[in-house]
Amino acid sequence: MITGVVTNIQYFTMFDGPGIRTTVFLKGCRLNCRWCHNPEGVRHYPEVFHLWSNCNDCGQCDNICPTGALQVVERLGHEGGVVTGGNAPGSIPIENRDKMVRKIRIDKGLCLGCRQCVEACPQAAFVISGEIMTVDEVIEKVAEERLMYENSDGGGLTLSGGEPTAQPEFCLALLKAAKEKGINTALDTCGYVRWDILNEMLDYTDVVLFDIKNMAPKAHREFTGVSNDLIQENARRIIARGGVEMRVRIPVIPGINDSAENMEKAAEFICALGLKAVDILPFHPWAGQSYRLLGLDYPFTVGEWYPGEKQERIEEIFRANGLKPNRLGG
Ligand code: SF4
Ligand code: SF4
Repeated sequence: MITGVVTNIQYFTMFDGPGIRTTVFLKGCRLNCRWCHNPEGVRHYPEVFHLWSNCNDCGQCDNICPTGALQVVERLGHEGGVVTGGNAPGSIPIENRDKMVRKIRIDKGLCLGCRQCVEACPQAAFVISGEIMTVDEVIEKVAEERLMYENSDGGGLTLSGGEPTAQPEFCLALLKAAKEKGINTALDTCGYVRWDILNEMLDYTDVVLFDIKNMAPKAHREFTGVSNDLIQENARRIIARGGVEMRVRIPVIPGINDSAENMEKAAEFICALGLKAVDILPFHPWAGQSYRLLGLDYPFTVGEWYPGEKQERIEEIFRANGLKPNRLGG
């Protein structure tokens, strides 16, 4: 029985391919993008996180961990001992980080996933991200929305991540199982995958959502941890192979890929692929919220909207190159 690790299943998604879809997020990624919107999806295994905004320092998790994976690394106290409310009864609101009472570091190498901390906490401050599921379990949930796919314009299943191809056997089996049930399939990929693996997946894929992050090799390596050679080569191979709809997507990341020079190069690359449109994913000002919830550092300002005129200028570059920019959300 083939199993995989699923971070989340999201229903009624509008920007993950044609029509209305169910997006299944597979856990694990080979890249390490500095701006990643799903930090809980990067590692390949289920992992425990401490939601410090829920914690009221009750101490019930002290010494509960059988392996010593939990360590209290900050205790700041809060004003006058007053707990001011938040996500759970008696918790501290997220914006009052300076009033945080306890920050816990979890040594992932020591964690056994025994759930004792999850069960001990009365504030639901520990969560496990990543559920081991079988192909049948996932497809059963996806198939429940079949009517919605049929009544929307080509809706179906989208596999996303993390990076779905980083669980190659599970990803392939999900695509196959969906096609066997007549469900439209989309693969949202960063393209950093061996061609023979990707090529086999494409036999069961209707639409590829192919992310292009940065055209400059040095910057790509610096901000994602890997070279963009294989990614660009795979984009060309998908086009040459045919038999699948290819949509290139560009996430706009301030200071990392939003220069006119980079967008010009991206436009040239997409034109050379013979495509007529590009999907633009505007920078999401609240993307960093999950970093804050998980107590991780986020390199951008949370809540700051990307300037509309800059977004317009980027889209104008693509228009000037004969491409139709589709702004997804934002
Ligand atoms: S994590 Fe939960 S159990 Fe531990 S101190 Fe905070 S509220 Fe109490
Ligand atoms: S799941 Fe178990 S091993 Fe992991 S941090 Fe919690 S108590 Fe420790």
